[in-house]
Amino acid sequence: MNDFDFSDLKKELSSKPNILITSHRGPDGDALGSCLALYQIFKILGYQVRIVVPNAYPDFLHWLPFNDEVVEYESNTIIAQKEIDRSDLIFCLDFNDLRRTDMMQNALSDSHAKFVMIDHHQDPSDFAHYTYSVPTVSSTAQLVYEFIEVMGWMKYMTVDVAKCIYTGIVTDTGSFRFSSVDSKTHEIASHFMKLGIDQASIHQKLFDNNNPNRLKLLGYCLSDKMELIPDLHTAIISLSSEELENFFYEKGDTEGFVNYPLSIKNIIFAAFFVQFGDIVKISFRSQNQFRANDFSKRHFSGGGHINAAGGVFYGSVNDAILKFKQVLPDFKEELLSNC
Ligand code: 5GP
Ligand code: MN
Repeated sequence: MNDFDFSDLKKELSSKPNILITSHRGPDGDALGSCLALYQIFKILGYQVRIVVPNAYPDFLHWLPFNDEVVEYESNTIIAQKEIDRSDLIFCLDFNDLRRTDMMQNALSDSHAKFVMIDHHQDPSDFAHYTYSVPTVSSTAQLVYEFIEVMGWMKYMTVDVAKCIYTGIVTDTGSFRFSSVDSKTHEIASHFMKLGIDQASIHQKLFDNNNPNRLKLLGYCLSDKMELIPDLHTAIISLSSEELENFFYEKGDTEGFVNYPLSIKNIIFAAFFVQFGDIVKISFRSQNQFRANDFSKRHFSGGGHINAAGGVFYGSVNDAILKFKQVLPDFKEELLSNC
């Protein structure tokens, strides 16, 4: 973040523009935490500011400070559209291509506002007027912290802002365990603990509020639905719409399932397929330098990070798996060398 020149943005902000903050479709802890942190800072600074996200997000994020102020475009289109129309500056957090906003993409593309991107995904597209993209950093929330720092706003860092940033960091780093975590990540955590956040309670709110159906679905995935491909160090889990219904699926219930196979010795690539109507949503996770984002980009119209990526397949879950198994051997060399 320190490498960027913020002088033009500072000038832009001095004219007190109407600010909108948004994230990608299916906001996760990093997306929502980043939005709510920046929202509070702009509020303290006296800006007209709103958060509009494309659609709903899981219950385990609803405790975040100012959650009630978030407008969901999908379920509240008229109000959301009004907010987009009257904004001069739109902060795009945790995504780097307008396509990631899905049902909100056209509304954003038609806007007269200038875009500010703060993001940590690979290969940013060039839609934003101001692009602060640092793919080596483990979360957008960390970038938002650094942004607050370089803008000279650290005096406005309240416990509520810290809770939101901490949530983004924790959820995007697998609770501080991924290789993208750096000394700065821990410095931020240390700062927040000195500030007085209750980190144990945040972890509890994020991870210890499973509903029983989610845990049963996880058990089913691991015992009945996990398929290992040992010679390619890969594991697959899949769920059909019917199976989701059998376990009374609610949004967010399968969050994190894709990570479990990676804890098996010698498994370095995991794919998780879920059928939603005509679309199969796929999550990919990998270890070491195996590029899950390149794999997804090449074969499943997706992208993401080296070790955490996502994509889509139009068709049945069985056809998606068939395609996956067809293309996987092309990556044999990379899979073997990363094990
Ligand atoms: P998840 O598996 O948690 O849905 O996504 C993992 C990572 O991949 C996230 O950082 C997300 O931004 C990215 N990702 C997920 N789905 C897609 C997609 O359809 N397209 C692209 N470009 N990235 C995705
Ligand atoms: Mn993120």
